[in-house]
Amino acid sequence: MKVTIVGAGPSGLILGILLQKRGITTRILEAADKLDAQPRACHYAGPGKYELERAGVLEKIQAEGFHPGGVTWRYKDGAAVAGIDQKSIPESSVHRMVCLPLGRVCEILYDEAIASGVEILFNHKVLGNIGQTETTAWVDVSINADVQRFEADYIVGCDGGNSQIRRALFGEMEFPGSTWEQQIVASNVYYPFEKFGYNDSNFIVHPTDWYMAAKITKDGMWRVTYGDVPGLTKEEYEKRLPMRYKQMLPGAPEPSEFKIANIGPYKMHQRLAEKMRVGRFLLAADAAHLCNPFGGLGLVGGIADVGCLCDALDAMNKGLTDDSILDEYSRVRREKYQTIVDPMSTANFKRLWEKEPDKAFAEDEFFKVLEKANKDEKLMNKLREASMALCHDMAQFYKPPVQA
Ligand SMILES: Cc1cc2nc3c(=O)[nH]c(=O)nc-3n(C[C@H](O)[C@H](O)[C@H](O)COP(=O)(O)OP(=O)(O)OC[C@H]3O[C@@H](n4cnc5c(N)ncnc54)[C@H](O)[C@@H]3O)c2cc1C
Repeated sequence: MKVTIVGAGPSGLILGILLQKRGITTRILEAADKLDAQPRACHYAGPGKYELERAGVLEKIQAEGFHPGGVTWRYKDGAAVAGIDQKSIPESSVHRMVCLPLGRVCEILYDEAIASGVEILFNHKVLGNIGQTETTAWVDVSINADVQRFEADYIVGCDGGNSQIRRALFGEMEFPGSTWEQQIVASNVYYPFEKFGYNDSNFIVHPTDWYMAAKITKDGMWRVTYGDVPGLTKEEYEKRLPMRYKQMLPGAPEPSEFKIANIGPYKMHQRLAEKMRVGRFLLAADAAHLCNPFGGLGLVGGIADVGCLCDALDAMNKGLTDDSILDEYSRVRREKYQTIVDPMSTANFKRLWEKEPDKAFAEDEFFKVLEKANKDEKLMNKLREASMALCHDMAQFYKPPVQA
């Protein structure tokens, strides 16, 4: 079997490694001339860790990254209200979250993909002209001034939120769901939050000055993701950052007291493609679904997609099942988004700003469950196990192909 993946982002690279290691010849077509280094994902929870281990990169990620000690929800003045402690979970456990900025994770994935024999072609932009027959699928690809056709048995769109594959399959504007009014700015910064008693990850609950502050590297870099007025340019957000930091952060810092490493403004969406399979074309991760980043469900959901897709294609390649398993892939992964990723990420985000903080802390069922679980280890373990529900065992759908 030959598979072509569109997009050398994290989901495309992980899928490439998983498939190639199972003997499926894999090629990745990437529009850009290098890997993306924008400030995005950093935290990988259980389902992500499980697949990173299968891809053979977890050890390296754990060695370079670190395991955050816990998360705390706070008032704007820094007072802690609720939290989850992670220190009691061994670092080797799948339930202990690992943290390393995505830019570095992609470099590690790239090296592993090349070592596994995946062919990765940069400056190969897939165009809207795609097609398939009973036996093959193809995409037209722009390479400098040239257009070339690439064929494979299956083509997987791992080409992100603006996926060309998804637009070619369903139409330019067909990505059902909604866009948040709120504008977020993700900034990477050196600022000593520890001095103010902050935990490794913190959510500040406030109607306008809500934000997340999380330590993301061992050398003390933090990610501060906060809201700002919509519709400005990156340069305008950069200019406003010192004013927003002074309004929000503990110690109301002056620019001389922090060092910015990187900043990226993002629009946030909750969207899910109509299907994740159309014949020999498949979609995975951000190309298929989007969510806001609060709670780190975006890429972790996408990594769980590619794990299932690898198992489905591998089983077909080994003759254990027919291609109906790809319809199950589409059904199961869409259901995971609808029942886990979308409602949880929506609640995580709204919890930060929807109600006055006193009301939020008093009324939100989530904080009551946390309080209970912190006193009841069995309940806490149950919640941890539940978080693995993003994964799915595809073996239950094996249906040996009918012999001719
Ligand atoms: C601020 C922020 C923080 C986040 N934090 C977390 C977190 O802590 N945990 C988490 O799980 N998730 C998090 N996320 C979400 C996560 O970053 C994304 O879900 C993830 O990067 C998506 O990966 P992907 O491989 O699907 O797509 P992308 O990373 O978008 O990669 C797509 C690739 O496809 C390429 N491409 C696009 N079009 C074409 C084309 N036509 N031809 C060829 N190539 C093409 C692009 O150049 C790109 O390299 C966060 C997101 C943001 C914005």
